[in-house]
Amino acid sequence: MTLSNFVISMRAPVRYTIVPRVPAAHLFEVTVTVSDPDPAGQRFTLPAWIPGSYMIREFARNIVTLRAESGGRPLACEKTDKATWQCAPAAIAVTLTYEVYAWDLSVRAAHLDTSHAFFNGTSVFLLPTGHENVPCEVDIARPADIRFANWKIATSLNQTPALARLSGTNATESLASAGVSQIDVKSFGIFTAENYDALIDHPVEMGTFSHASFEACGVTHHVAITGKHRADMARLCADLKKICQYQIRLFEPETTTAPMQEYWFLIMAVGDGYGGLEHRASTALICNRDDLPAAHEKSVSTGYRRFLGLASHEYFHTWNVKRIKPAAFVPYDLHQENYTRQLWFFEGITSYYDDLVLVRTGLIDPLSYLELIAENIGRVMSQSGRGKQSVAESSFDAWVKYYRQDENSPNAIVSYYQKGAMIGLALDLTIRQRTQGSKSLDDVMRALWLKHGREGIGVPEGGVEEIAAHVTGLDLKDFFARAVYGTADIDLVPLMDSVAINLAWRIPGKQKDDDPAPVTLGAKITAESNHDAKLAQVFDGGAGQAAGLSAGDVVVAVDGLRVSAMTLEKRLRSYPVGSNVALTVFRRDELMSFNVELQALSAQTCALTALDTPIDAKARRNAWLQAQ
Ligand SMILES: [Zn+2]
Repeated sequence: MTLSNFVISMRAPVRYTIVPRVPAAHLFEVTVTVSDPDPAGQRFTLPAWIPGSYMIREFARNIVTLRAESGGRPLACEKTDKATWQCAPAAIAVTLTYEVYAWDLSVRAAHLDTSHAFFNGTSVFLLPTGHENVPCEVDIARPADIRFANWKIATSLNQTPALARLSGTNATESLASAGVSQIDVKSFGIFTAENYDALIDHPVEMGTFSHASFEACGVTHHVAITGKHRADMARLCADLKKICQYQIRLFEPETTTAPMQEYWFLIMAVGDGYGGLEHRASTALICNRDDLPAAHEKSVSTGYRRFLGLASHEYFHTWNVKRIKPAAFVPYDLHQENYTRQLWFFEGITSYYDDLVLVRTGLIDPLSYLELIAENIGRVMSQSGRGKQSVAESSFDAWVKYYRQDENSPNAIVSYYQKGAMIGLALDLTIRQRTQGSKSLDDVMRALWLKHGREGIGVPEGGVEEIAAHVTGLDLKDFFARAVYGTADIDLVPLMDSVAINLAWRIPGKQKDDDPAPVTLGAKITAESNHDAKLAQVFDGGAGQAAGLSAGDVVVAVDGLRVSAMTLEKRLRSYPVGSNVALTVFRRDELMSFNVELQALSAQTCALTALDTPIDAKARRNAWLQAQ
């Protein structure tokens, strides 16, 4: 400990309180108290983005009212920009009290109604400028009304048991007298964080969620599910345990120790939703309730496979991005974009491992895994944007391109998730092939963990490439130049051959080689609410674009006959390739006509088939998938 650290650690903590004050109006009430305010006038700011989701979201726009006081008297406080408040000078403690509107049901923000409350610290906790490294305390309370007396709390925030409000509220006493027993792991009351960065990295869920827990490598892992669901909690825990144990051992094969004291899967089950956000000791997930396995289901459905892949992805981030971080994120600047060309690694490699862990732990079989990677390869190859943007560029521009997609995105950008996962696959197979199986991407991950993750040292731009070359002893310059910084397609065929997998491309709808190819408009068709066919995207080089059709056009007739979203493609398929057809469309409210020369469908799906020979390649496949 240096002297300056010692001085910092002696400073009084920044104290917060948060309560869902008016659940029906989606309003949290938050206070922040600084006991040693800046003598020149304390400033407070709210982050513009949340780590893990690379887009400026302006969380401060949800602060509805705000007042400041000091010594029991109102204190002047003025807004100086969209996310900053400047208080007048005060000699003693300053407290801000503010309301935050929370009606964003995503993993990135805050949501509150009469059924539950969820928040990320980035949405609710103002940072007193100059107090970035000061310890924080937060008193979290349930809503006052008796209707919410059975609410519990789920969070990885640290709680000193003595500070928990164990039986202090009327609500809890009423509940106990009503005969409802609560087996709470944590209780409403005071939680602590070593600094602001930690405070905002532990999302909080409150409500009547289902809860279960399991141990993995000596660490307690909690599962809390909010929303109506019929999930088999025991099976969920058993399956998640395999994923967690595997990943802990992957990074720490010798010590088998996890880098966190406890871990929480905070799951929101909804009718239709998908997403996750990683944190240092938890993850917030949103999923379809039907993706969670019901008690009578024994197999792994496509939906459950997707859910397990998501959980595996976010858990892998516990190492890869929460601790092994791009240098550009050390520390985060939460007020503006933080640029790095490495998201292909932190997201793409995590995407490569998420499903790989499922097959390596036996949760899915190798055939199911090949299906998943074939789908991903197909998605990457179907978008012409891959020829215009490298994954390094896609990482850098994530803030304005990947996270702000529009109708032209498939023609203009490449996904650093999807192509990044493909690079992970190609890199792993390249290393395995060129080192005769003595090294793999696992060794690269462990080396990054040892050098950067454990030590908390950011990975400089180009640092991944350097470590990969060092660990494997291979010259990978050309590989990275082409795959990461270039836009040429990665040739996966020889790499798949090296693990006895045949890669073939098939045209959907074509059963036999001599079947005529189906025709296409070269556009993605979606249904308007009245079932009209709307062009969501018009692809580069396609028949629709050549004829002048645009995204947003609503196709109402083909050669004078009315069509809908259901019938447009079927009608087009009744024409041979090369036919000229007249499409009548509405663009805005203007009726227009376009002559389209129909093309043969060229978009293909990727098919991967595992072969039994050559024997040595099959053995390499088994080593890669760790097939039992
Ligand atoms: Zn991710």
